[in-house]
This record gives sequence, C-alpha cells and structure tokens, in this order.
Amino acid sequence: TNRPIRRALVSVFHKEGIEVLAEAFIKAGTEVVSTGSTAARLAELGVAVTEVSQVTGFPECLDGRVKTLDPHIHAGILADMTNPDHASQLEEFGIKPFDLVVVNLYPFADTVRSGADEAATIEKIDIGGPSMVRGAAKNSATVAIVTDPADYALVAGRIADGTGFSLEERRWLAGKAFAHTASYDATINEWTAKHWPKPATVASAAAEGEEEVNEAKFPATFTRTWDRAHTLRYGENSHQQAALYLDPLDRTGFAHAEQLGGKPMSYNNYVDADAAWRAVWDMAPAIAVAVVKHNNPCGLAIGETAADAHRKAHACDPVSAYGGVIACNSTVTLEMAESVRPIFTEVIVAPAYDDDALELLRTKKKNLRILKVAEPVKGRTQFRQIDGGLLVQDMDLIDALGDDPDSWKLVSGEPADEATLKDLVFAWRAVRCVKSNAILLAHDQATVGIGMGQVNRVDSCHLAVERANTLADGADRATGAVAASDAFFPFADGAETLMAAGVKAIVQPGGSIRDEEVIEAAKKAGVTMYLTGTRHFFH
Ligand code: 5GP
Repeated sequence: TNRPIRRALVSVFHKEGIEVLAEAFIKAGTEVVSTGSTAARLAELGVAVTEVSQVTGFPECLDGRVKTLDPHIHAGILADMTNPDHASQLEEFGIKPFDLVVVNLYPFADTVRSGADEAATIEKIDIGGPSMVRGAAKNSATVAIVTDPADYALVAGRIADGTGFSLEERRWLAGKAFAHTASYDATINEWTAKHWPKPATVASAAAEGEEEVNEAKFPATFTRTWDRAHTLRYGENSHQQAALYLDPLDRTGFAHAEQLGGKPMSYNNYVDADAAWRAVWDMAPAIAVAVVKHNNPCGLAIGETAADAHRKAHACDPVSAYGGVIACNSTVTLEMAESVRPIFTEVIVAPAYDDDALELLRTKKKNLRILKVAEPVKGRTQFRQIDGGLLVQDMDLIDALGDDPDSWKLVSGEPADEATLKDLVFAWRAVRCVKSNAILLAHDQATVGIGMGQVNRVDSCHLAVERANTLADGADRATGAVAASDAFFPFADGAETLMAAGVKAIVQPGGSIRDEEVIEAAKKAGVTMYLTGTRHFFH
C-alpha cells in the first residue's frame, strides 16, 4: 500500500522547518507545486518549484483569498488513483495527481490574540488551506496530508528514501489533519460567538413561556478547542495518565501562568494552585493571601502588606499549611518571601515578584514552583465534566449579588460596629472558596477556623470551632470571632454550636424553612445575625 511521493503540493503560512522538506525534494527529484511566498522560499532553498498559478492558468487574486481554489488543484488532490475512472478523468482533463499535500493555515488564533481589528481578523480566516487539507485527508486512499511541522522530518525521510507512506500511515495523517481543521474552525467560532451575537431581529427559538437562552454564553453546540501543551508526569494518582490542554484564544488564564522556578507542575499542583488563585484573585484592591491544601483553603487573609497577609493566613492553620500552595494577589515582596521561606510549600502563585524576592525563593527554596499569572479577567465561564456531559455556568464572583453589606438584612442583635462588619464582609467573601458545607470563622481580616467539605452543616460548625481553638496553641480564637456560612442553616444546631463557642456575629444567606428557629437562637444568645439573600455554594 506504500505510495511513493512523486508530486507534492506545498502551501504553508509558517515557513519554519521546510528546509528539511526542500532538501528531500531536491534529493528525490520530487515535482513541487506551491503558492506565492511558499514557492519563493522553496526556490530560495534550491527547489525547482512550479507556481500554483502556472498550474491553474489563473493568477492568485482577491488579496490571496483565491489562490488554490481551482479544479486543476483540487481534482489533483481528490482523485482516488486506485479508481481507474478517476485516473482516466484526470488524463482527459490534463490534470496531474498529487501524492503529498503539505499545508499549515493562516494563524487565526495568533491574529485574535494580537488584538487585530475585525477586518484583519476576518482576512486571517484561511479558506483554500482547509479545503486542501480536508480534500487530501478525505483522499487518504492515495494522498498523504501533512499539517504538523513536527512531522516534516518523517515526511522528508519517506521522500528521500522513496518509500512514501502506507495506507495506515496516510489514514493516521488524515486523522491529524481533520483534528487540525476542526480545531481551526472551532477557534473561529469561539471568536464569532463573542463578536457576532444573535441580533434582536432574529426571532427567539425559545418555546412559549421558556426563558430565552443567552446564545453567546450557551451556544447550541460548544466548539471550544483546547491544545495539548504537554503531558504531565501522572494524574491525580501515579496510575493515572494526564496532560495539560490550553485555550488557544485566551492566554490570560491561570493555566497559562509562567513558571519562574522549581520542579515541573504536577496535576495536583495545578488543581491546588488554581484553587488558591481563585481564592484571592478578585479580592483586589485588598492585598490577599491564601494557603491551600487539597483544593481547600487552610488560611486566607487580607493584610497591610503581602507579608502581613501571608503571616495571618499561615497562622490560621500552621499544621495544614505544610506542603500547601500559596497564592498572593499582589506583588510578592522580599519580606513575604522571607515569611514563606521556613515553610515547606509546593507552589507559590502571584501576578508579580520583586527581584530580590524571586532571587531568594529561587536560591533558597529550589523545589518551590514559582508561578507568575497574568492579571485576572472576570466573568469567565466555568466548565465541569460529568459522565457523558458538561456543565457550564458563570463563575461565582466576589461582587455577586448580596456581597454588598448595605443589602444585608439584620435579623438579630445589635448592628455590627465598623470593625465587626468589615470582618463579616471578609468572612462572607472568603467562604466562597471553601468547599461546601462551609463555615468560616474570621477575626481581624483573617480566617481563624475553617470547617469545609462536610456532609452536614453542623459538622462544619464543629470543625471550624475546633480548628479555631486547637491550632493556636490552645488559645481560644472562636470567642469574639465572626462567622460566615456559605448556605442557610437548615436547623438551629449549627448556629448554636458557633454561638456556644463565643462567635459574636454571623452572616448567612437565610432562606431555610426554619429561619425563625435559627434567628430565635441568635436573639436568645444576643448575637448579631445578617442575612445576605444569596449563597456561595462551592462543590
Ligand atoms: P503563501 O504564503 O504560500 O503565499 O500562502 C500560504 C498560505 O495560503 C497557507 O496558509 C494556505 O493555507 C493559504 N492558502 C492557500 N490557498 C488559499 C486560497 O485559495 N485561499 C486562501 N484564503 N488561502 C489559501
């Protein structure tokens, strides 16, 4: 089934790496047909190349929109030469078949990322390229299609030694080619979804009484692509294989963080660092630091400086902080680096590092993975895979409805004084990054006890109190602290646990059918309680 490569069509936007192909073409005496600047480059490299326009008898036109879109080219790509009828038709029309097509496409994603205007972006939608790629891939019976420069060396070898490719190899190349065009069109669609929303003049497809969907956010089909960046050593456990994929259009996300030092990131490092970053990224303008273990914060604080915030966050649970991930939403200073230095830490994430801080972390904590993240973009969509499906939702943002204390309802006790209210706001915002059921105790803009991930709320209350009172060398940190609950108290017992431990004010969504019982318990204890009306579930 091997078909030697006698005639090749080459049209590549990225010219890198074609030297190795040129060399093979020359050596094997391959007939090469090529487009404008690809032809020029190949000629420079010494290849006796034929211009596409010579084959088509028609000049490239419309600013390059029409170059290869011509039967003289496409019949040569699509003729199945194992089919005698196809072969005789080509003969009749005087068209020669291709054995190899090498194409890479206009860089659409790069153009979007560069901030090009609409006209320039549209011009970078490749038309002839994908047509050739799809044609050649469809006709893998006789044509080899190459879209990945990583395959040039392989192709060059097969041209030079005259063996060409087997059917299985051509089919494998065809699969890669279809993945390439699918990803290309998906990227274009991601852009159109954002820039060309459904106009009001188009009638709603929603049935009577049904809510109209936001097409930009929830299109009928998700075509988003992810490009494999690299494989990871292993997944969550050593028997699970894993890789990291990145969004080609958006390089601002956490996954694109630049690593400035330390060992390679592991799967779990990514998960935890993502959780840590999510805990602090929209706390700005406040300076915030989170310490995260297993996807949950073991400390979160706002400080006067980054070092201050770190000390406070670490103090919440110094036991759990061992081997954790630290995220800071402002520049890591030398003082903060000194504060981190004695603590075994897996990863540190921040938007910037002072030179001396970076130097210290790099030299004194050689294994510490140091990540620099781009400024956060609000309002991303979140995806979560379930068995056979995908859940899509808006991100839970800090300024969600109900995060403004002016909208809170005081249902028990005295209105909080300024400092207490500040702590309640902090606790309410911080509880957002704690896995449900979440109960968070705070004092002086820092968490002092966190109860997370329990299957009932009263256990989370016990855990938060226990942590507050056992992790600080026996000091009672629950007394005088404020508490936030990510969702309502279904019974009074949880709130009673907190109040018995000395919590002076509680913020919670409210909305339980037993709200009255919970509020009564707070009144009896003389504890301030606010209802936010919204919750911060996080599963
Ligand atoms: P060159 O740099 O050789 O002038 O052009 C190469 C690029 O043009 C490749 O990225 C290829 O996919 C693209 N291309 C080839 N034929 C056509 C065509 O007919 N129309 C458009 N829009 N692009 C084409």
